[in-house]
Amino acid sequence: MPDDDLLDRYRIDDAASDEEFLAAAKLYARAVADQHDLSVDVSALEWSVSKRAKRRAGAVKHRDGNPESVVITRAHFTEHGWEAAAATVRHELIHVHLLATDGDATHGAAFEALAEELDAPINCERFTDPEWWVICENCGAKIARYRRSKLVEQPGQYRCRDCGGEFRVEAATDAAD
Ligand SMILES: [Zn+2]
Ligand SMILES: [Zn+2]
Repeated sequence: MPDDDLLDRYRIDDAASDEEFLAAAKLYARAVADQHDLSVDVSALEWSVSKRAKRRAGAVKHRDGNPESVVITRAHFTEHGWEAAAATVRHELIHVHLLATDGDATHGAAFEALAEELDAPINCERFTDPEWWVICENCGAKIARYRRSKLVEQPGQYRCRDCGGEFRVEAATDAAD
């Protein structure tokens, strides 16, 4: 399950510099890796922000099955916000973990299982928007969800953390890609 506390703890807005974006992404990555017991050594990886990539939200570069560097895309963050950038970080962490433990760079069954656990999108390259919005009826707070989760299935079992309001769920409109 994704942890909204972690999302909020490292949240930055799109006025952040590239350095701030990178720093927030790494801190968030470390916290998520710890929480989910992933075989990811954030400090041992090289991290960078791509200012050129337009269609890729992120990437993991690897050599001989070993993860070496993580690239996250500035334009993706600027256009889609921190929640989307954080989802990309979770996606890339799954690649790093599967490479480190199994030399696996695919989006196969092992990837899908972890994507479910971390609420990460499965397709990084063409990923754009969340599948669902969970919206507080009272204060209008919006939570992005990339997979069909318990919160999406049974919003009535949860309450807004900001105001205690009830949630409704909306399918996000399809993005053309
Ligand atoms: Zn991927
Ligand atoms: Zn609320």
